[in-house]
Formats: sequence, C-alpha cells, structure tokens
Amino acid sequence: MKGKEEPAGLEDLLVLACRLGARDAAVIPSGDIPVEDNLAELCKTPGCENYGQGAGCPPHVSGPSGFRELVKQYRKAIVFMLEVPSEALFSNEREGLFRLLHEIASSIERAAVSMGYGRSKAFAGGSCKQLFCQHHAQCRVLSGKGGCRNPDLARPSMSGFGINVSKLMQAAGWSMSRAVKTEKDAVAMGTLCGLVLIG
Ligand code: SF4
Repeated sequence: MKGKEEPAGLEDLLVLACRLGARDAAVIPSGDIPVEDNLAELCKTPGCENYGQGAGCPPHVSGPSGFRELVKQYRKAIVFMLEVPSEALFSNEREGLFRLLHEIASSIERAAVSMGYGRSKAFAGGSCKQLFCQHHAQCRVLSGKGGCRNPDLARPSMSGFGINVSKLMQAAGWSMSRAVKTEKDAVAMGTLCGLVLIG
C-alpha cells in the first residue's frame, strides 16, 4: 500500500479500500492514468452485450476525450485492486465480485467527499445494468423515468473511457496476474481494478 506522504486523509482511504476487500490500494498522479481511444471502441466493435444498456456505459458516457478533459481537473487518484482466483471470474461468482468492485469504489468516493474532497469521482468495471438492474427491462436513467436505482453503488465502467487497466495497474506498481502457491497446487490469480479521482 503506497501513499504515506500523501495529502490529508488519503492514507485513510487506502486503508478503507483494503478493509472493504481490496488486496492493495495506491495513490497515483492523475496524469498517470492511461487512456486509449481504441480500447473504448472495443465496447462497440466487436461489441459488448451490454453496450448502450446502462447510463454508465458507452455511448452514454463522455468517452476518452471527455475523460481526458475531466482528469485535468484532478491531481491525484486512488487505484485499488482485488485479487481473486482466475477461475472465479469464469464462474457464477463473477457478478458478485464485480458488485464488490463497485461497492468499494463508491465507498471510497463517499469517504473522500466526507473528508472534503467534494469533487471525487469513482469508476469501476463491468456494466451496472447487468450487475444491478438485470431484472429491470431498462436503465431508469436512460428511460427518462427517474434517477439511478443504485446511486450508492453503481459507478461507470472504466472501459467506456478507454482506460487501460493493465497499464493503470503498472502505474500503481502491480502486475495484472500471478500464481499463488497453495498446499496442493499453484492457483492462478486474476485481478479487478477500480479508480477514484480525488479532488
Ligand atoms: S439505473 Fe441501473 S442500469 Fe441505470 S445507471 Fe443506475 S444501476 Fe446502472
């Protein structure tokens, strides 16, 4: 966990991330967040089944160009990661893990706001429509019938802004995957990553 000489309170936010389930968390300069146009394009082509389904995904978010403008207003960001057995990401545990990712991201954002970083903004991964509103025909924001059903949990997906998660993790000093030795075998581990702009 990096961040010992960070602005007031950021160390507490790193501790919060780990207490909520993150394997590690770090403060990075917001200018180190890697954004690539072609990654955001992948949501549309070849296409994600959730493309256009929720307000947190393209084409309903501002995309790479909007993120580049947004990030100019921030100096610092918190990156956190969950480490899970790779096979869990291909099992019925997957959605629960992604919901946890959103929960940690939104909790850090809320704590940052309560510390006085009132413009803090969290990003997670995966479609909020699939994770939180799969039993509803439509995203309520997109239907125009009201606000988000899950404002305390759901956050936009980093994919739609072209954020390169692999490089983001490198910026935080982590690698994307590794193997953990158990008593019987080596278990391949995968990672999920979230981001909170602090300001
Ligand atoms: S209403 Fe559901 S689908 Fe729409 S933004 Fe909120 S969580 Fe996502």
